[in-house]
Amino acid sequence: MFNGEPQTARPIRWAMVGGGRGSQIGYSHRAAALRDRGFALVAGAFDIDPARGRDFGVGLGLDPARCYSDYQALFAGEAARPDGIEAVSIATPNNTHFPIAKAALEAGLHVVCEKPLCFTVAEAEALQRLAEARGRVVGVTYGYAGYPMIEQARAMVARGDLGAIRLVNLQFAHGFHNTAVELDSPSTRWRVDPRFAGPSYVLGDIGTHPLYLSQVIAPELKIARLLCARQSFVASRAPLEDNAMTLMQYEGGAFGTVWSSAVNAGATHSQKVRIVGAKASLEWWDEHPNQLSFEVQGEPARVLDRGMAYLHPDALALDHISSGHAEGLFEAWANLYRSFAIAMEATDRGDAARLATLRYPGIAAGVAGVRWVETCVRSADAGGVWVDYG
Ligand code: NAD
Repeated sequence: MFNGEPQTARPIRWAMVGGGRGSQIGYSHRAAALRDRGFALVAGAFDIDPARGRDFGVGLGLDPARCYSDYQALFAGEAARPDGIEAVSIATPNNTHFPIAKAALEAGLHVVCEKPLCFTVAEAEALQRLAEARGRVVGVTYGYAGYPMIEQARAMVARGDLGAIRLVNLQFAHGFHNTAVELDSPSTRWRVDPRFAGPSYVLGDIGTHPLYLSQVIAPELKIARLLCARQSFVASRAPLEDNAMTLMQYEGGAFGTVWSSAVNAGATHSQKVRIVGAKASLEWWDEHPNQLSFEVQGEPARVLDRGMAYLHPDALALDHISSGHAEGLFEAWANLYRSFAIAMEATDRGDAARLATLRYPGIAAGVAGVRWVETCVRSADAGGVWVDYG
């Protein structure tokens, strides 16, 4: 169990771009980063509206001189200070991720970036090369990966509890956008506009989440080819989809499906991951994240509970409170941010041994998500045909 003892020698000096007043995800970043003293928020360019962003930053207790009008001013202003920022989180609409992440890496900063990392594989690989050349960490906030029961699922698959993996059944299918809510919602409006969202809506916005979880739980599965069909049930969203079905053929014969949807009327989140092996299956649902179903063929189904002594030590190490209490998304994100802080500090020290102990969504996960979206769109726009992966 994690009890909040600092995991780094001191908090990393940290800023945010985006995530300002009224944003959907800004608070999750701050709640996670600040929780365990891995980071100290000292600066920001929080908003597309500079005055509102400055007001917001001052309200958070920041020095007004360090509440900047945009990311260029932030990086330049902080580079000129002896106590300037060492890391930045990017929580802006998708179209800005590439230029802001590139500028941050060029300024020598560690980066945490929202998903999808950027629009194209070419851009994602350019960021990967830049991060490697500059020796900087890029964390990507696939936040659900920080749940202890995802770690438990990974450990059980690795131990062979399921037998050979045959099927992967994934979905993130909410119903929040079953009508044109974007007419009244700015944070939905950019999501259905390709200039801001990129080549997809639900594939990149939500489908990449369970996809990443499946890659954590069953890392040996490599997609060989896929077929995707996408629809715009709210017609004004075309060419972007509000629903998509993806079939995935893995190397070695396993098969997978991903249902990505914003029009699953009546559903709230409905993110589920089911992994089916030759002898047993696991299922995890993000609306009940403290539980993991384990079903062995021919035996009564079991529900494993977070925090219980029968779980794998790596899963127990991610707990913040004892069993029986509910943990949630903030704890999961805090686990990610803790790893980001340790990775950034270890990178600065050149501590390869420490880095090798860490498991977190880094730049490779960001590239993989963009590759999946790009390949799904290629398949869908060719009429829903099988296309080779990679
Ligand atoms: P939002 O529209 O609710 O908020 C965006 C924020 O960014 C606003 O504060 C806006 O003023 C600010 N902003 C926009 N352009 C800016 C710029 N150039 N410089 C500085 N600030 C700018 O969006 P959101 O829902 O918070 O999504 C932001 C990002 O987070 C998206 O990439 C989205 O895909 C991602 N997201 C991830 C998760 C997750 O689970 N990891 C969940 C929600 C959103």
